[in-house]
Amino acid sequence: MSSLPVSRRRLLQAAGAGALASAAGLGPLGGGPAAAAVVPPVRPDLGVSAYPFTLGQVRLTAGRWLDNQNRTLSYLRFVDVDRLLYNFRANHRLSTGSAAATGGWDAPTFPFRTHMQGHLLTAWAQAYAVLGDTTCRAKADYMVAELAKCQANNGAAGFGAGYLSGFPESDFTALEARTLSNGNVPYYCVHKTLAGLLDVWRHTGNTQARDVLLALAGWVDTRTARLSSSQMQAMLGTEFGGMNEVLADIYQQTGDGRWLTAAQRFDHAAVFNPLASNQDQLNGLHANTQVPKWVGAAREYKATGTTRYRDIAANAWRIATGAHTYVIGGNSQAEHFRAPNAIAGYLTNDTCEHCNSYNMLKLTRELWQLDPSRADYFDFYERTLLNHVIGAQNPADSHGHVTYFTPLNPGGRRGVGPAWGGGTWSTDYNSFWCCQGTGVEINTKLMDSIYFYNGTTLTVNLFVPSVLTWTQRGITVTQNTTFPVSDTTTLTLSGTMSGSWSIRLRIPSWTTGATISVNGTVQSVTATPGSYATVTRTWAAGDTIAVKLPMRVIMRAANDNADVQAITYGPAVLCGNYGSTTPAGLPALTVSTITRTSTSSLAFTATANGATVNIGPFHDAQGFNYTVYWNTGAAAVTYKLVNVGSGLVLGIQDMSTVDGGLALQWDDSGTADHNWVMVTDGSAVRFRNVNSGKVLGVENMSTADNARVLQWSDNGTADHRWTLIDNGDGTHRIRNVNSGKLLAILNGSVARGAQAVQDPDNGSADNRWRLVRLT
Ligand SMILES: [Zn+2]
Repeated sequence: MSSLPVSRRRLLQAAGAGALASAAGLGPLGGGPAAAAVVPPVRPDLGVSAYPFTLGQVRLTAGRWLDNQNRTLSYLRFVDVDRLLYNFRANHRLSTGSAAATGGWDAPTFPFRTHMQGHLLTAWAQAYAVLGDTTCRAKADYMVAELAKCQANNGAAGFGAGYLSGFPESDFTALEARTLSNGNVPYYCVHKTLAGLLDVWRHTGNTQARDVLLALAGWVDTRTARLSSSQMQAMLGTEFGGMNEVLADIYQQTGDGRWLTAAQRFDHAAVFNPLASNQDQLNGLHANTQVPKWVGAAREYKATGTTRYRDIAANAWRIATGAHTYVIGGNSQAEHFRAPNAIAGYLTNDTCEHCNSYNMLKLTRELWQLDPSRADYFDFYERTLLNHVIGAQNPADSHGHVTYFTPLNPGGRRGVGPAWGGGTWSTDYNSFWCCQGTGVEINTKLMDSIYFYNGTTLTVNLFVPSVLTWTQRGITVTQNTTFPVSDTTTLTLSGTMSGSWSIRLRIPSWTTGATISVNGTVQSVTATPGSYATVTRTWAAGDTIAVKLPMRVIMRAANDNADVQAITYGPAVLCGNYGSTTPAGLPALTVSTITRTSTSSLAFTATANGATVNIGPFHDAQGFNYTVYWNTGAAAVTYKLVNVGSGLVLGIQDMSTVDGGLALQWDDSGTADHNWVMVTDGSAVRFRNVNSGKVLGVENMSTADNARVLQWSDNGTADHRWTLIDNGDGTHRIRNVNSGKLLAILNGSVARGAQAVQDPDNGSADNRWRLVRLT
């Protein structure tokens, strides 16, 4: 947004329960899935080796996820479509009838009005697809029919064929000329409308939605085809949502190459080029302007097979989650990315915009389907969905309104919105900001990533109470759990099944000692944290699979300050309850005092600032001031690791700050990557690189001799833990907890730049290290 005289951010600063008991029973098939209405895409996605079930094949059962869905559903059934049509009708020279205008970001004077309607079309379509909710379908059908009338009046309104918006087409003329100065982000709004129409078409089968969609997409194609590539790239300096994503989706849906060409015009070179070469140049960028472009890159890969798109998406994910993400899974401060690993310095009232995490979840899901062995993708998904997204909805509000930011300052409290739109929780008609839009979308598809399949193999990624109706195979899977209060989830199979087939279960990186039982008998299957456990057998109706994932308190340090830490327990971030008081700075926490006080809830206590504080799950921290991060007291102790064989010190190749940067030995030249903070982790330690904030681990959690040692995000896997063994001569052996091997140098080399590896304990000099304390 920085290229505009009046940025969206500046504009905003200047401006100042109904659980539906009947919801589970709705549906045209007497409560059965509504999946039959789905219009499948013409083209299959390329490169994919795991497939989601269609909306409607998975339903939530009692729990926080269902409660969230019901509150949002209540709002979706309530909201008045004629009021939402006000700006469209006024702009397209049709009568607004007796409808009152709306407020907030949909006020008739707000520059990018009519972005919200697309989100609502998506949410209504999803509510129908998931639950068969005909009230929601009727609202979507009515809005589509009225939007068609708006489009049909373009001649009288002086607009080009297919145009559809709540603001005049002249804003696009100014956008293309780089003279637009009213704060509008026109393609951002068009993206939402296109995505909403596409979802109504594909999830409900409404062919008028298809026609309105393709007419508007045709207007986009016509409008952009006449621009030179330099004009187009200059225009992409203004936020445009996921235009590349939705146009690639329309290409997949229709098979018409026109839409792929249009999609690729929205490839933003200034953002894509550094990501293609795995460079982190996010500092200072408006965060949620970028994430939808990355989702678009993933969709363009699946449409074309061009690996550069895949690399852009995967690198963006790695950079954003590794160097720009707070412990709750959210990113951004004041809507912007900061310097890599700048976390502790940005614990403010305006961290973690909701939209960013919504879009990061979409990106994560796209990437995981390309590489379903990557459990770390769903470790992130679980953490972000639970702690940020689920928790962003106000459970005290029967319409499920949401917070825009999730504050992470000590004494923060949810319910913080931009000034234009009330500054607090979203409201029925007077906020309509972006995060309200992504809020209604996510809370109508919370079940879409619990289960996936490939052939006859079922993958269970999330531990959420739900029922999967695998209609293609006649199998029903019922998942019962109170996770994460309980560490166990139980899957029960029913239906008709025969032959041998497999169930893959995600074993999160945060657990140790995971077990899988079938019909009460513990199975002898590998259940390594940070991977998938597979159980293959001839299943029978009535079989139960119990997955036990023991949880423990794990402290998570901010990337840039080992003293600033958050408490996690399994997937849940825990926070301190400060009532209506505001601590003066991060409370000083005595980590050893953290104690669980209940088995039926995630209630803990601890001592902070010398007093007892109640600790609980962050997603339930509603209506009181909290702290997520703490000062853990122990000053960071920094060491150099000097190899006894070579006399050289351990560092990171090229001072890399990315996941996978290789550990090697080098002259003691004093660069920051030679300094390591030793973080106590039970009876072991983690070595955190001062330069990158990453911790020392073993490539792919290998247990083999000579496996490379490298740095990785501190995500809790066992290969990040090392045990120090005192040799009694001022040196130590450093043993990897996961592999049992020792930190060493490949082939005992004494050369500068030689790779650090893990070795058997064979007494060689390169297996010994001197820990030289620096602070
Ligand atoms: Zn937002």
